[in-house]
Formats: sequence, C-alpha cells, structure tokens
Amino acid sequence: MTKLFPTSTAGSLPKPAWLAEPEKLWSPWKFEGDALAAAKQDALLLSLKEQEAAGIDIVSDGEQTRQHFVTTFIEHLDGVDFNQREVVKIRDRYDASVPTVVAEVSRPRAVFVEDAKFLRRHTTQPIKWALPGPMTMVDTLYDSHYKSREKLAWEFARILNQEARELEAAGVDIIQFDEPAFNVFFDEMNDWGVAALERAIEGLQCETAVHICYGYGIEANIEWKKTLGSEWRQYESSFPKLQQSGIDIISLECHNARVPIDLIGLLRGKKVMVGAIDVATHTIETPEEVAATLRKALEFVDADKLYPSTNCGMAPLPRAVARGKLQALAAAAERVRKEVAA
Ligand SMILES: [Zn+2]
Repeated sequence: MTKLFPTSTAGSLPKPAWLAEPEKLWSPWKFEGDALAAAKQDALLLSLKEQEAAGIDIVSDGEQTRQHFVTTFIEHLDGVDFNQREVVKIRDRYDASVPTVVAEVSRPRAVFVEDAKFLRRHTTQPIKWALPGPMTMVDTLYDSHYKSREKLAWEFARILNQEARELEAAGVDIIQFDEPAFNVFFDEMNDWGVAALERAIEGLQCETAVHICYGYGIEANIEWKKTLGSEWRQYESSFPKLQQSGIDIISLECHNARVPIDLIGLLRGKKVMVGAIDVATHTIETPEEVAATLRKALEFVDADKLYPSTNCGMAPLPRAVARGKLQALAAAAERVRKEVAA
C-alpha cells in the first residue's frame, strides 16, 4: 500500500440482529436455505459499507457468512463428522464439544470463494480474507483418524492452500491465517506450526498474514489473561520463528494488553498489523488513546510497515460499539499520518 498506516480489522464484525442473535459466538442463523444465503450477502454488503464509511482502508467481509472463524471452514470439509462429538480442551483453556475427524480430510468444493468474489465486485479498496490456521483447526477438533496433531495440520495446510489459491484468483489482496494457537503451544509452533503455515501459503503471489492474539473478549479468555502475570511475553516465543518465515504480515494484540511493546522489534523487516483497539471492552477508545499505542509501536516498526488494526475480531460486540471503534481507529491513523508527515 502506498498510503501510510492503512487501517484494517483483525476480521470479524458484529452481525445485524436480523441475521443472528448479536453479542454471541456460534449464534444460530435466523434464516434457512436460499433466504439465508441472500441474508448473508446483504449483511456482508452492510459490513463492507460500514467499514468504508468509518474510513477503513483494507476491508473485509466482516465474517458475516460464517458462524465461527474455525468451525465454519471445517464444516465444508469431508472427513469430519459433526454428529460425533467429543469434549476437548481448546487452547489449553476451556472445554468445548467438538466434531471428530473420522477419515481422510479433503475439501470437496471451495468454501469462501463465492463470498470473496461478491466482496471484490462491491469495492475497489484492497481486501483481506481470513482463514483459520492449520494448528488452530487441529486444536478445535477431536482426531480419531490421524492420531497425530502434526499429521492432521499438514493435511489442513494442503486444503487451506487450495482455498487460498482460489481466493487469490478471486482478487483477494491479503490472505490472513488466524493462529491464536501460536500463543499457547510454543514447542509445536516451532516444531511444525510455522512450517505447516508456510505450506498453506505455498505458491501465493498475494500478500499473506498471520493473526496471533489473546482471543475474543469472552469470559474464558479474560480469565486466562488473569493467569498470565504482569508481563505477557508469549510473543517472545513465536516472533523469531515468524520473522524468518515467508509470511508477509504479522497481526497482533497491543492495546490494553500487557505485551511489552519492544517485543515487536523481534519482527523487524515484517509488516505488522498493530492491534490498537481493545475488543474485550465496550468502551470506545478515543483517537488519542489509539494513536498513543501506534506511536509506541512506531519505535519498533518502520512507518511504512505499520498497519493499524484491532486486537482481535469484534463479532461479540454490539454493532454501535464496533462502529465507534472503527471510527476511532481511522481517526487515530490519520492523526499519526499527519504527525509523521510534519
Ligand atoms: Zn484474534
């Protein structure tokens, strides 16, 4: 991007109340069949227009067509039985009833490609599309077939690469992989997590990003954060490996987080999507608060590589709150742009 400090979101935005019950993860749809397909497209368009109106530079679908950032993708794959459920601990944090891998996994057809084409047709802004990362997918399932997290991750990486290539052909400018699991399983990340991610981006010409955060502002994550102490140094374990990887952009959480900001220096050379909006509170940041986080990050990221963003997805927030936060983000970026130009 030629524009300095182009703004974006980590991915999800709240859905309209007529589509699904708001402020809830895995919220059930209020329509079925063709009516649901049409309603999802309407919501996608609305979400796009809200981002554009707020002044967001790199826009997304707001994840309006998916119920959840991991499960919706998995639902479209063969080899996973959604009726056969087991309780597992997700990201070592909370129990969830998850589907079971019962056979070889494959992607019989594209998952998000039609949605991406639809988004592309309706905007001239650069677009970013989020997919789950291989390790986070593995961590959201019970595996009775491969019986190896690594083996399953490589299979998912192959499938994600098929989807990513089609998204690129549909005109997506940045493909982002959500890997919150990288903030938890450091040994696995170093052993095979980043390598699997690189398999997922193989052959892509568009830009690629990885989003690593401390999660949505839900109770389980807030409780987990309380156990992390006064300094959150998790990124120290993942950044060196990511700095050496083929991923172009690293998306992370900075605002109201106890992440020592100098850790970003470990990514030197990469573009950094700096999370400068807290998604765990309904309080709307002032542009000055957001700008302060961006200025701190600027000490460790070159100006042309700093992309202001949100800490994580905003799906669980009220719409008006999310809208206010987007406006604060755009206003803050404009403020810092002027300062740097002066
Ligand atoms: Zn996140």
